[in-house]
Amino acid sequence: MSLKGKDIISALQFTREEVEYLFRLAEKLRKEIDEKGILDYAKGKIMVTAFFEPSTRTKLSFQFAMKRLGGEVIDFEVTTSSLAKGETDIDTLRIIDGYNPDVIVLRQKKPHFPEQIAPMIKAPIINGGDGWNEHPTQALLDVYTIWREFGYVDGLTIGIMGDLKYGRTPSSLSYLLSKFKDITIYYIAPQPLQIRDEVVEKIEGKVTYYKVEKLEEVIDKLDVLYVTRLQKERLPDPSMYEKLKGIYKVDLQVLAKAKKIPVIMHPLPRTWELDVSVDNLRQARYFEQAQNGMYIRAALLKEVLGV
Ligand code: ASP
Repeated sequence: MSLKGKDIISALQFTREEVEYLFRLAEKLRKEIDEKGILDYAKGKIMVTAFFEPSTRTKLSFQFAMKRLGGEVIDFEVTTSSLAKGETDIDTLRIIDGYNPDVIVLRQKKPHFPEQIAPMIKAPIINGGDGWNEHPTQALLDVYTIWREFGYVDGLTIGIMGDLKYGRTPSSLSYLLSKFKDITIYYIAPQPLQIRDEVVEKIEGKVTYYKVEKLEEVIDKLDVLYVTRLQKERLPDPSMYEKLKGIYKVDLQVLAKAKKIPVIMHPLPRTWELDVSVDNLRQARYFEQAQNGMYIRAALLKEVLGV
């Protein structure tokens, strides 16, 4: 497998072999990091994080991952930069690239921006989220978490619930799951938030999927329930938020109706859709999921850097 020097733009671009290789590498790096703290694979390499949209987990876990690999991190500060003087994101990235970083992790509001800019940039670009479109490294950590939980991914039934239309994690998760065999996905959302056609078109024939409105209809079938928040900042009209706020929620009451509680995941941040009372269940995995992000991103960085 060689991801060396490649741009990481979409979860669709990975082969199953690459994904499983990254999972195994993440396990190996986890052990080495737990033992030694800082490794030296990426010594002398520089990663730039250029986040034009807010982030907690993606940026921090990439930064931790690069430091743990022994590399250097430079964060491009959006708020204090010349963006305030009207400089474009494209010019900004060309300037960053001119200083010869070894990899750039990019988050941008505009869907498909990473694939448009990548041909202009020498350094490999890792897509850290492009608007509502995709979040491929989130999908890696999501499926890595599922793989760690069950020991396999084939044959599992996953419920993806919440804002599937304006969210970017449901699309990338669907794409990555489509690399595995006998996967069933239940898209659980009120009609205005259902999964985009363009997403299901790309997994057609590879995954069995159903669209449903209510969790109660399918909860007993699920191995994993992946909850997402309503993407307030992406809704076309602010009144939509007020209308849809609270329309779906996972709490102990809802889960008590299930014969068997599935593994519960969430990309975070959560708002009202996932009650804190769920946190104490042994099936709640969202904090481990966020933690797993550092190890899988370390594995991805190691491969992209070719170290
Ligand atoms: N943190 C995830 C993302 O960047 C999920 C979310 O924001 O709802 O897409």
